[in-house]
Amino acid sequence: MDPALLESTLADAGQPAFRARQVWEWAARGAAGYGEMTNVPAALREELDGRVPFSSLELVREAFATDGTVKALFRTHDGRSVEAVLMQYRDGRRSVCLSSQSGCPLTCTFCATGTMKFGRNLTAGEILDQALHFRREHEINHVVFMGMGEPMMNLPQVLETCRRLPSMGVTHRRTAVSTVGWIPGIDALAEEPMPIRLALSLHAADEALRSQIMPINDRYPLAEVLAACERFYAAKKRQVFVEYVMLAGVNDQAVHARELAAVLDPRIYKVNLIPYNPTGMYDGSPRAVIERFRAVLEEQGVGATIRLTMGRDIDAACGQLAAKVAGEEASVGAEADPGAGEESGPAPDAEAAAAP
Ligand code: SF4
Repeated sequence: MDPALLESTLADAGQPAFRARQVWEWAARGAAGYGEMTNVPAALREELDGRVPFSSLELVREAFATDGTVKALFRTHDGRSVEAVLMQYRDGRRSVCLSSQSGCPLTCTFCATGTMKFGRNLTAGEILDQALHFRREHEINHVVFMGMGEPMMNLPQVLETCRRLPSMGVTHRRTAVSTVGWIPGIDALAEEPMPIRLALSLHAADEALRSQIMPINDRYPLAEVLAACERFYAAKKRQVFVEYVMLAGVNDQAVHARELAAVLDPRIYKVNLIPYNPTGMYDGSPRAVIERFRAVLEEQGVGATIRLTMGRDIDAACGQLAAKVAGEEASVGAEADPGAGEESGPAPDAEAAAAP
């Protein structure tokens, strides 16, 4: 539901100011449609039905993993793919991973989304509708912006989304925005009054290696990104999560762990090592290598956790389901048009779509 369209439609209809809040609160508590909003006059519910789509997204496919992870692929009104994931943990956390863009312009080499064509920034309504989709089935209590796209490149819409999340049960302190190091966004988030958490996708402490894995590093080198994260910490007094995806033989050796420890102040950063789903151009590091990497970090005084892998049986990393469906659609189309779909196909695992 697009809250801006809802507000303008109700204002045009001469409705009192509280009405938009009343309708939104129903949606945020998981109502399945306007029909459930029993304290809204029936004629108005009918009018809203015709003028404000209850969701801006069409569900294309949903995949359910044995561990409770659910992944949804949506399509926008103009045909863009959008993915979101619900992760359910044994300790009661229900975390939703949201996309902020359809596709992504930043081409990180390990990421399925980075291999797709960039579509466009999503509106706050389209981002909220991903969360509302899961909210209709489950209570949710955490949100991470780690799905498709670089959230800092669409920060106004991401922040507009964050303002609405508490009404769905997700406090700002349980909301994290992840970035590959888009410095203007980190600085803007540091000035934002909402106490939202920051996660940095770091993946290599050596500048040359990082540029090879993540071309954004040529524009915003790691040293400058870390300086921005330190400004964020100084302003917000909140630790920054460092996400580090473990790529076999690429960034997973003891030397890489020592380089990482050398650039991180343990008072400011908390490291999260991410097992990588072995597809495409990289393999994932074996568990023993990840454990050794963590041990080296700890010897150097930097604490690290190893992320639980969720939804492995349903292509749960961002971009994977869209790539798969695009591949299927291309192969159906290719029967009629042999040249169709050559840009699609299986893509490597993405920035891990799991919660800190
Ligand atoms: S890791 Fe994030 S920023 Fe990089 S290509 Fe994937 S979605 Fe874009």
